Amino acid sequence: MAEQLRFDGQVVVVTGAGGGLGKAYATFFASRGASVVVNDLGGSFKGEGQDTKAADVVVNEIKAAGGKAVANYDTVENGDRIIDTAIKAFGRIDILINNAGILRDISFKNMKDQDWDLIFKVHVKGSYKTARAAWPYFRKQKFGRVINTASAAGLYGNFGQTNYSAAKLAMVGFTETLAKEGAKYNIAANVIAPIAASRMTETVMPPDVLALMKPEWVVPLVAVLVHKNNTTESGSIFEVGGGFISKLRWERSSGQLLKCDDSYTPSAVLKKWNQVVDFSNPQYPSGPNDFLGLLEESQKLGPNEQ
Ligand code: NAD
Repeated sequence: MAEQLRFDGQVVVVTGAGGGLGKAYATFFASRGASVVVNDLGGSFKGEGQDTKAADVVVNEIKAAGGKAVANYDTVENGDRIIDTAIKAFGRIDILINNAGILRDISFKNMKDQDWDLIFKVHVKGSYKTARAAWPYFRKQKFGRVINTASAAGLYGNFGQTNYSAAKLAMVGFTETLAKEGAKYNIAANVIAPIAASRMTETVMPPDVLALMKPEWVVPLVAVLVHKNNTTESGSIFEVGGGFISKLRWERSSGQLLKCDDSYTPSAVLKKWNQVVDFSNPQYPSGPNDFLGLLEESQKLGPNEQ
């Protein structure tokens, strides 16, 4: 049998750990030897109200099972305080799971600034604040692991979720850049688009489907990604849920180079449209195109067809 992945001596911060996926992560890491900060504001899934009970219940459960955990009730908008809790209680921070989230679903026609702003505060600013506060510790100890939480809605769009989709795709860019900046310091950052039964999904999916999407089934991938043995996977995007795990990547068409002169007109673009959108010979980029190189190449071409 393979050796069990352990997290002894490590400190894990899980935001939004009072229920759903966050609770599953927190109880798992505590059961594998980590000390866990269970953060939860304890509000509704729309981001209203607050209650210390959500985090307390999970901390008590962990302790009753012989694990180590402390509660933190701050909103992730004050993520620095959550990291402070880890430092004060356990003296370090090794793993950060940015999981807290809310929904403010509404058609774009009816979207209010408040619905837009709150989603960005919790998902984007919240993930930034915790990661920013953990970063100096990660760099200094030359170890850190971050999981950010995106959503299929962010990757593909979903009716009624322009605010949530935009914030969730922001998690992808955020993660990709953290991975690049962290590489030198053995800091790995990855982003997941999970699917799991929780109070977020229970109103939109039938019970028989929910039974196939236990939050616990998202945990093993997260455990692998944040374990110290993962030295290769960083800046990656995964879809995970219901037992299925897949990795996503960017695909760029091989494209069409046009001469950059007066012949570079809309008609010239239309003439080459099939090549622009042709994915038969794709590239899988992890950075932007070499535009300067392409510009040089373009100068060698004859005028574009109109
Ligand atoms: P959930 O509502 O059960 O859990 C989210 C937790 O975050 C709650 O306990 C809530 O109190 C807490 N929280 C909310 N705002 C907070 C704040 N400002 N500060 C601290 N804690 C806060 O939902 P879940 O399904 O477990 O979702 C977890 C994450 O996964 C979210 O980021 C969500 O957007 C994402 N997600 C979930 C699914 C799914 O299928 N469940 C799909 C895609 C993405």
